[in-house]
Amino acid sequence: MMSKIKAQSEVDVVLVGAGIMSATLAYLLHQLDPQLNIVMLERADAVASESSDAWNNAGTGHAGYCELNYTPQAANGEIQIQRALEINAAFEQSLEVWAHCVKQGILKTEAFIHATPHISFVWGERNVNFLRQRYQRLQQHHLFADMQYSEDKAELANWMPLVMQQSKHAQCAATRVAYGTDVDFGAISRGLVAYLEQQKNFQLLLQHQVQSLKQLANGHWQIKAKNRNQRRMLMLNSQFVFLGAGGAALSLLQKSAIPEAKGYGGFPVSGLWLASHNPDLIKQHEAKVYGKAAIGAPPMSVPHLDTRYIDGKPALLFGPFAGFTTKFLKQGSLLDLVKSVKSDNLKAILFAGLRNAKLTNYLIKEALKNKAQRMQSLREYFPAAKDADWKIVKAGQRVQIIKQCDHHGGKLEFGTEIVCAQDGSLAALLGASPGASTSVNAMVSIIQRCFPQMQTQQWQKKMRQMMPSYGTSLIDDQAMLKKVRKANLSTLGLDQ
Ligand SMILES: Cc1cc2nc3c(=O)[nH]c(=O)nc-3n(C[C@H](O)[C@H](O)[C@H](O)COP(=O)(O)OP(=O)(O)OC[C@H]3O[C@@H](n4cnc5c(N)ncnc54)[C@H](O)[C@@H]3O)c2cc1C
Repeated sequence: MMSKIKAQSEVDVVLVGAGIMSATLAYLLHQLDPQLNIVMLERADAVASESSDAWNNAGTGHAGYCELNYTPQAANGEIQIQRALEINAAFEQSLEVWAHCVKQGILKTEAFIHATPHISFVWGERNVNFLRQRYQRLQQHHLFADMQYSEDKAELANWMPLVMQQSKHAQCAATRVAYGTDVDFGAISRGLVAYLEQQKNFQLLLQHQVQSLKQLANGHWQIKAKNRNQRRMLMLNSQFVFLGAGGAALSLLQKSAIPEAKGYGGFPVSGLWLASHNPDLIKQHEAKVYGKAAIGAPPMSVPHLDTRYIDGKPALLFGPFAGFTTKFLKQGSLLDLVKSVKSDNLKAILFAGLRNAKLTNYLIKEALKNKAQRMQSLREYFPAAKDADWKIVKAGQRVQIIKQCDHHGGKLEFGTEIVCAQDGSLAALLGASPGASTSVNAMVSIIQRCFPQMQTQQWQKKMRQMMPSYGTSLIDDQAMLKKVRKANLSTLGLDQ
């Protein structure tokens, strides 16, 4: 552990937030250069208590296997698979680094990852045609070569008994990838930070809320954080800052006043699950079953019925049901949205609001639904579901990005976006999906953009030790994919 931070200290790296993103960046940087002085500032009293906590997200290892929104259909009817390929390749890189951590004894597989087949399930002629065509396109690519497709009800009942029990669909179909995953991103964050805390040159400061940051004449950043416990201020000067504050990253980015922050706004969306701990149900469902988003619904509200492993125990979760909120964090303030409106993003927010009036309407209606209405949605996937087996649990907040566009005012984005200062001294991560699953890829790209040392042979060699495919494209290099996937499945126990 680093010698204790004084009220005013000079360090190499400050990471704001202790979620999966900061934990991953801290781990990678420490492996690349153990001499870097790294401080992680977290406002809460625990690591990963916001979006990265297992109850706050869906725990899907997003690989494009089951999420139909990653393969949109163009106006000419063609299914576009590029985004699914990119997400699949990025997720494989996360698996590489997690497998490396398992081999080093830093993470334990049973604590954070479980093979959970990823299934896309649709009904009705139009949707079945879409799924068949999607399968035909994806399956030709080596990344998706193991995907299965079926319209046979007996086979579907074998893949997902609860879903097919009492199912009245005349025509339905599903695709399945056996080695899809359920991931506890909170457990990964806690595992990485616990390891780092035992190392020299790393310090985690809980209950420290970053309140302001400003760039000094020498290019370093001065960060002021309030110790919420002792009501004292801590001032740090750092060469590099990462804003890994989840939903709150936008507000901090605005405080940094870097020109690259201009024009960004945030659109918060809350979430709810229906959760069941009934062991009889749990043993009859071993999959993540994703459907198609209802017309007018945002992609992140695609319903899914999932086997989850949280704190080592299995559960079934259905949802998330999206809803309207003005908070940027689960523990945030109702004023977050209003406070994020600035003169430079007002136009973008207004345009995005006007263009997405249907979405806002949808979210308000969703937020007003009662349990009986939510159970109705669940019964589309599990017709025999009983009210008594399910309870409502609050999920995390997502802050979707609103972005300025030159000709159209502003638009709402559903992805994850990295914003970097031109001089490489600050980076922030905005947005949600595919989020935690692609955290390694996102953090590696920050290192590439902000740390010139990444060009050295020494750093590249170290990066390849953690991620053997580093420097090649898993989309193009079939032999490399075969090699790393085989190793990942075996090390992470996903091939049984
Ligand atoms: C409902 C839902 C479902 C999701 N499903 C999936 C999924 O299935 N698969 C997937 O890959 N991703 C999913 N995501 C997205 C994923 O959870 C996020 O992308 C990821 O957890 C973000 O990690 P993070 O480290 O950026 O943020 P967080 O985990 O939110 O961490 C940010 C931390 O910063 C702290 N903080 C905030 N402000 C300050 C401050 N001023 N000073 C100090 N600390 C601060 C917070 O307390 C928090 O601990 C989902 C998200 C939601 C909400």
